[in-house]
Amino acid sequence: MKFCSVGVVLALCFFPNLISGNAHAVIARAQVEENSAAPEPLYSETEAWEEKFRAIPAPENLRAYMQKLTARPHHLGSAYDRENAEWILAKFQEWGLDAEIESYDVLFPTPKERIVQLVSPTNFTAGLQEPVIPEDATSAQQDEQLPGYHAYSADGDVTAELVYVNYGIPADYEYLDRLGISVQGKIVIAKYGGSWRGIKPKVAAEHGAVGCLIYSDPQGDGYVKGDEYPAGPWRTPDAVQRGSVMDMPLYPGDPLTPGVGATKNAKRLKRSEVETFTKIPVLPLSHADALPLLAALDGPVVPESWRGALPLTYHIGPGPARVRLKVESSWDMKEIYNVIAKIAGHKYPDEWIIRGNHHDAWVSGATDPISGMVALMEEARAMSELVKAGWRPKRTLVYCAWDAEEQGLIGSTEWAEEHAAELRSKAAVYINTDGNLRGYLTMLGSHTLERFINNVAKSIDDPETRFSVWERVQRKKISAAKSSEARAELRTRGDLRINALGSGSDYTAFLDHLGIASLHLGFSGEGGYGVYHSAYDSFHWYTNFGDADFVYGRALAQTTGTAVMRLAEAEVLPFNFENFAETVTTYLDELKELAEKMRDDTAETNRQIADGVFEAIQDPKGDSPGPPKKHDPPPFLNFAPLENAMANVQRSASHYEQAVTRFRESGSESPAGLNQKLIQAEQALTLPEGLPDRPWFKHQMYAPGFYTGYGVKTLPAVREAIEQRKWSEVDPNIVKVADVLQKFSQHLESAAALLRP
Ligand SMILES: [Zn+2]
Repeated sequence: MKFCSVGVVLALCFFPNLISGNAHAVIARAQVEENSAAPEPLYSETEAWEEKFRAIPAPENLRAYMQKLTARPHHLGSAYDRENAEWILAKFQEWGLDAEIESYDVLFPTPKERIVQLVSPTNFTAGLQEPVIPEDATSAQQDEQLPGYHAYSADGDVTAELVYVNYGIPADYEYLDRLGISVQGKIVIAKYGGSWRGIKPKVAAEHGAVGCLIYSDPQGDGYVKGDEYPAGPWRTPDAVQRGSVMDMPLYPGDPLTPGVGATKNAKRLKRSEVETFTKIPVLPLSHADALPLLAALDGPVVPESWRGALPLTYHIGPGPARVRLKVESSWDMKEIYNVIAKIAGHKYPDEWIIRGNHHDAWVSGATDPISGMVALMEEARAMSELVKAGWRPKRTLVYCAWDAEEQGLIGSTEWAEEHAAELRSKAAVYINTDGNLRGYLTMLGSHTLERFINNVAKSIDDPETRFSVWERVQRKKISAAKSSEARAELRTRGDLRINALGSGSDYTAFLDHLGIASLHLGFSGEGGYGVYHSAYDSFHWYTNFGDADFVYGRALAQTTGTAVMRLAEAEVLPFNFENFAETVTTYLDELKELAEKMRDDTAETNRQIADGVFEAIQDPKGDSPGPPKKHDPPPFLNFAPLENAMANVQRSASHYEQAVTRFRESGSESPAGLNQKLIQAEQALTLPEGLPDRPWFKHQMYAPGFYTGYGVKTLPAVREAIEQRKWSEVDPNIVKVADVLQKFSQHLESAAALLRP
């Protein structure tokens, strides 16, 4: 028996009463720390090729591609969007990749009429126009640009009193309830931030509002952060954040074809049957257009946490501001163009390593998405150079340039839905990128790839410092850590924790719908970014305030390319399940703490209500809120099925790790069927019936929150039932998810069995 497991046994002996949930966490962490020090599986024959690869990506190429791709507005359905797809195709073909365009027909509304008017107590008509900035040539292409609007907003023409609702997320409406303010029949105005923008009109409609406005408060990405564009990177008063407001947490993709590819003959819903459109009209505003509306509000002064940075006292209303909001769109079918390029594998051609980045934008899209798109292109070119030099990947590489991501991840989702069966059998890993700036590598993804991507990051030089990109992130995290325990973990765990994936980019269909292990990577954290989804996210902005010399574009290509090469070359796909087991155990602990806290908080709140505490602190002449809603005490929940399942997953994970470590040392060929089993491991974490109320989302470990849209909910079926006080659903969901994990543990045991002689 090796030292490591002796250590584990010791932990058990000394702390017998640790045979609780936390015992599992301690064991799992010990296994991770001990094995993260394990020598990284040798990629010796690829190391030389890796070095060769990393020397190829050239910043000047990235710059030239960006200048071409951002020269004109290239949103879904525009001429230049198609031209860009054809140009990318030609480039892939020029480099020798087997490339084609796959197109789909999707529903895309564009605005015919937009009106926002303050009709009383004074008159003001919102300009809804981003002015030309002389220094920025493409900002003058107004005829070709999509105006500021929210795609998939309902058509409507409403006039009503206005109510300011902070971010407009559920917690904000609980506060309005305590003030006795209803938005029934009102138009609400919310500031961007706090959730996916589609959540705001959804929750507003759930509370009876008839219209919704969303504005960019300068507190978020304006002058509060630094100089406004063009003097600095931050949002100008007239800049607007366009965006989709489809209810993506229900399902992303073309609204008319949920779950199937939007091919010509696909069965389509009628528009009246679609659930992902907003129920009320909604429009985005710049803070210059929002100011007169907010200034015309009276009623309670907002609490500190609701304040923004506009030069006024923020009031909630309702009124006296009355606003007219009109949105009328032309609901057209448009063709979209995904570019798919392959380099066939010579040994395992039916095992695919897929890379993706979207090429469509709201306007010029220099940061979002072209900064990532050009890195993907340069990575593909470098791979083709290696092939010319004699390198052949064992597995097939698939490079994807997605269209229509901005409207709702449409291009990637339609492709994933159309090719679902083939992808479930062939797709080993999906690596996504999107916008890329300067600074620190952000690593998000499936925790079965946490060890792997940490090892990749340790091999990439940071272009600005003497550190690797891994060391730079680690040191950044140490400097930001809030406790000595957190610092200790950063110094000893060996692997930096990667964040779980919620939604917000093209990995969603691969991970959440098909159960393909996925990663999302990008650099950020240095400099400002205030032009998101505005006309000013341009080549001029990027070459002044983004990664102006494209060295982080090169670093991104080096990072994702190195990952792709290692995945393509490994005899045994480099999944590690111990980090996964340890991480999911922390999620289980969080849920237990959450349930306990909700029980304590509910008891305390109910007691304070009964004791008149809220009554006593309410200022009858002020704006202080009344007592919160009284809730029934949460029941005690039974987490044992999940605890038992996680104990089994940890055991199987270490069985697999021991077996694969021994096997790798043998240097032999991977046993037949093993990699297929590993490809199916992530799929074993899904359920065909999906999540409660949203069957499109199949993954049981990760999903975007129903009321967050972007932010991840881990163990979503259990966590959201607890958060939404659906007590009768919690225990059944615990049993269901535990069953998934038990099957996952058996899956790992069967993989380990294949490795034993
Ligand atoms: Zn994007």
